Amino acid sequence: MKSRSDALKQIEGRQFDLCIIGGGATGTGCALDAQLRGLNTVLVESGDFASATSSSSTKLVHGGVRYLQQAVADLDAGQYRVVKRALHERKIALQNAPFLAHPLELLVPCYSQSEILYFQIGMKLYDWISGSGMLFPSRHLTVEESVRRMPMLNTAGLAGTVAYADGQFDDARYDITLLETFSEAGGQAVNYTRVTAFKKDSAGRLVEAQVEDRQNQTTFSIKAKVFLNATGPFSDSIREMAHPGIEPRLRLSKGVHVLFPVDAIGSHDALLIPKTDDGRVIFAIPWLGRLLVGTTDDEAQQGDEMVVLKSEVEYLVKHLNRYLIHPLSVDQMVSGFAGVRPLVRSKDALNTKKLIRDHEVELDEASGLVSVLGGKWTTYRAMAEDAIDTVQRSMNTLVGGCRTADHQLKGAAGWNADYWETLESRYRISRNTAKHLSQKFGTNAVKVLDLIAEDPRLENPIVEGQPPIQAEIVYGIRNEMAMSIEDILARRIGLQLYGWSIAVTAAPVVGAHLARELGWSPAQKQRAVEEYVNKIHHLMEIAGLVPEHAAA
Ligand SMILES: Cc1cc2nc3c(=O)[nH]c(=O)nc-3n(C[C@H](O)[C@H](O)[C@H](O)COP(=O)(O)OP(=O)(O)OC[C@H]3O[C@@H](n4cnc5c(N)ncnc54)[C@H](O)[C@@H]3O)c2cc1C
Repeated sequence: MKSRSDALKQIEGRQFDLCIIGGGATGTGCALDAQLRGLNTVLVESGDFASATSSSSTKLVHGGVRYLQQAVADLDAGQYRVVKRALHERKIALQNAPFLAHPLELLVPCYSQSEILYFQIGMKLYDWISGSGMLFPSRHLTVEESVRRMPMLNTAGLAGTVAYADGQFDDARYDITLLETFSEAGGQAVNYTRVTAFKKDSAGRLVEAQVEDRQNQTTFSIKAKVFLNATGPFSDSIREMAHPGIEPRLRLSKGVHVLFPVDAIGSHDALLIPKTDDGRVIFAIPWLGRLLVGTTDDEAQQGDEMVVLKSEVEYLVKHLNRYLIHPLSVDQMVSGFAGVRPLVRSKDALNTKKLIRDHEVELDEASGLVSVLGGKWTTYRAMAEDAIDTVQRSMNTLVGGCRTADHQLKGAAGWNADYWETLESRYRISRNTAKHLSQKFGTNAVKVLDLIAEDPRLENPIVEGQPPIQAEIVYGIRNEMAMSIEDILARRIGLQLYGWSIAVTAAPVVGAHLARELGWSPAQKQRAVEEYVNKIHHLMEIAGLVPEHAAA
């Protein structure tokens, strides 16, 4: 990507075919699709890219076994279609960025022969719907086999497990990689730019957006033939801006995840807890060296603070502990995050758990605004295809069909699971750093490592003993528009998820590189580090941790 200031020069006051509002999964997927079809496209994002729902997911590329269960139990054809389409998209998402998304095996604990039969039939159906996209066939594991796979599994009363496959991915980096691929195709994107108002022509159609540059405290305008609302949980506010009085369409639901040391489960496989006290499923998934546990599903309101509460940690720990031989305690938690699902309203669903995770593309005939509502990460590409088809129809121009199904994302070409070995030998870096860079950047990791030739100190780790190196910080600032410590640690590198305490240790190092690259004064740098550390301590306290005693 360009630097932020260069991108702004290409955007301010310019005319585009399509202006996309929102830089999460929906917006970045639409941007890539549109640009590849030949539409001159710009994307504006109010915060950092992927800073809202798109970095707060369970990180599964999945059809959703729970939705399949609902489809069968309620004979719901809508749910079935969503699962089928998501399973089709799962295959594409994994193929197009194999360094960021890969298969994962999940074990479902069963406590009677009838439960084993029930889940075996369900998972065979899941395999069958996957068709050619099946990752590997589901199967029954005896108690002994299950414990061999997952040594921390509590065997009291256990009759066996059913193992099945789904996909797992790095959501924030997938988003950034989509943007890099979009930029490579000639598109323009800029973060920290918020659409605050629209201008319309005499027929009432949107022709221009007023945009606030939140870094420089300035405003500018963007002209476009079509505006596409990809603001996820904020979609109703953009719809209202374009068409005052329009009926809201979304229901919001909060979900939290917490991370623990991965040895709590001692396995490469994930655990699916099929039924909580309130009828949910919970996943405990090994993810980038930690155990990711989630999620909850509670009605939320616009503006709610997205933090993990102590009661939510206790809820997740209580359910997981029923399946572990060594129960976890809240203070073993290393980090957590919360997000809000943008679900499309349904008259029939009493609570958010029952709402279908399908998407809708809405064309507001009065203003011309196209809104993409609902959906899930897994189906981002299919959502984009539907949305850009609608954009093209509304423009009355046929510039070309969708090309994203087999368009590999930046870093995928030439990558394989052993690619880290090339990095290790070519750059003489540690094995763990080579694996980490290969997983985060694919073959694009060479661009990060080439920075070391410019300044050998960039080979130093950000935090002693951890794989990420300082070159990633500089790469993130220069090439991925990172503007703050959190942009780097939460979304570019992921150390904030790996551990809040580690992120606090990393903050001054990241602050120093930001100051050098962006020309901050020493006082600005000091303030940025203090604000970040205070924010992390606030998150820890709300989650029930004492910052000084938190697990590293
Ligand atoms: C707890 C949880 C778990 C989930 N797990 C999974 C999972 O495992 N697998 C899966 O497939 N899906 C999952 N999902 C769903 C998936 O994460 C979402 O469907 C997806 O991330 C939504 O992306 P989005 O781009 O629509 O929204 P967002 O990521 O929220 O992006 C919208 C963006 O619009 C920006 N914006 C808002 N207003 C403006 C404005 N005025 N101007 C400019 N920009 C603006 C916001 O800053 C935001 O970044 C999960 C969701 C949650 C909450």
